[in-house]
Amino acid sequence: MSELISLIDELKALGENKINLVAISKTQSPERVMELYNEGQLDFGENKVQDLIQKQIQLPKDIKWHFVGHLQRNKVKYIAPFVHLIHAVDSLKLAREIDKQAQKLGKLISILIQAHIADEDSKFGIDVDDLPAFFDDLESQEFQNIDVLGLMGMATNSRDVEKVKGEFDGLAGHFETLRGKSWKSNIKMEYLSMGMSSDYNIAIDSGSNMIRVGTKLFGARKI
Ligand SMILES: *Cc1c(COP(=O)(O)O)cnc(C)c1O
Repeated sequence: MSELISLIDELKALGENKINLVAISKTQSPERVMELYNEGQLDFGENKVQDLIQKQIQLPKDIKWHFVGHLQRNKVKYIAPFVHLIHAVDSLKLAREIDKQAQKLGKLISILIQAHIADEDSKFGIDVDDLPAFFDDLESQEFQNIDVLGLMGMATNSRDVEKVKGEFDGLAGHFETLRGKSWKSNIKMEYLSMGMSSDYNIAIDSGSNMIRVGTKLFGARKI
């Protein structure tokens, strides 16, 4: 797995060892996941509930599973027992359901709020301009069983570096503002999850501390 090692080396060379690398293993076989696991990678991400459950059953129990896709409320209960971080919460209803399922299990579930920064309609998330109000709403709910740990965003799928950089900078600005506020205990702004294979360098430049990389680690997906 020289790609992983070179990516990790690359991050270290940047002096950015506080950057969390989530290996996005969607569509990849458990064997491929094990190759990275054996290199010491513990954080993996999936975007489909069924695939996440399958892999969680088959693979070592110390893997930290991230859910990075759009999550339907009726499926929260299936991943609640083991999920490490849910990246893409974009409604109070979904947050409420996660809190409810976590409460049933007597645990805390960590989530990120997905912001919409791309100019493509296909990507989910809260409009960046609505983030302050959304966080006020979140705080007022006083959820006891979720930890809101930060923000997640996906830039426009574009070769225009300036455009992508502008989107990441915009989200990073909101992250800093939200982080600077004193929230009640269930909001702790620690993670800014942005950057994928094609744009993680730009994202890191903008202040990302969690990148979600699939293709660059595993090669092209088979779908
Ligand atoms: C697939 C996916 C990624 C990884 O994309 P690559 O281009 O393969 O690195 C990151 N984030 C989310 C939300 C994804 O669905």
